[in-house]
Amino acid sequence: MTLSIYDLTDGDFRARLEQTQCAVIPVGSLEQHGQHLPVSTDCVIAEHISKEAARRLEYFVLPVVPYGVSFEHAPMFNVSVRDSTLSNVLCDMCVSIAHLGIKKIVIINGHHGNMGVLQYVAQNTFEKIPPDSAIHVINYWCLMNEKFDHAGEAETSILLAVKPTLVKMDRAEATGKTLMKSREVYRSMTCRPGSFPELTGNGVWGDPMLASADKGKELMREINDNVSKTILEFD
Ligand SMILES: [Zn+2]
Repeated sequence: MTLSIYDLTDGDFRARLEQTQCAVIPVGSLEQHGQHLPVSTDCVIAEHISKEAARRLEYFVLPVVPYGVSFEHAPMFNVSVRDSTLSNVLCDMCVSIAHLGIKKIVIINGHHGNMGVLQYVAQNTFEKIPPDSAIHVINYWCLMNEKFDHAGEAETSILLAVKPTLVKMDRAEATGKTLMKSREVYRSMTCRPGSFPELTGNGVWGDPMLASADKGKELMREINDNVSKTILEFD
């Protein structure tokens, strides 16, 4: 039985609503991920994790919201929306499905630059959704021990595990510049539009040459287990 909202009729949805009043919304971005990963990387990962969580917990899953806030990647490829646009889209979606009877909404985020927006979705929908509905957010990389990167070892390994046909390892190269400052300094610096290619030289943060499908499978096992556990703890 699929719980992918995309495939259901109105009648299917209503019938299944009697069994579950919970839904997962994946949110990604369209932005450069070096020369070896597709611009859809964050979407692919967020959707993969969301579908697995929905399968395990028997929740509904919505199609991925593919556009995020990625101005930091300019002038390299990015299709970005402003923080207010993403916020409006997600808040409207949450209000819509809450009024259909979904009581627990879990947003699974695949892109670092969306975090600020997602932090306020519950606040911005307060009093617009029924009082027995709740909205939660998971930034998936916070649920793995490995340090996260951008098109580096971790992200490339994950993509090798979930969609290897989209990975071009023969084009993979490590960060083009030496990154000597602390992560907190870079976290702040990368809030500025255009900063990412400037800082890294080639749009890659980390070393994708260290990536492997086995490592990706291991990371996905850890992430999927922790995501399910975390979603259940929201109750
Ligand atoms: Zn990414």
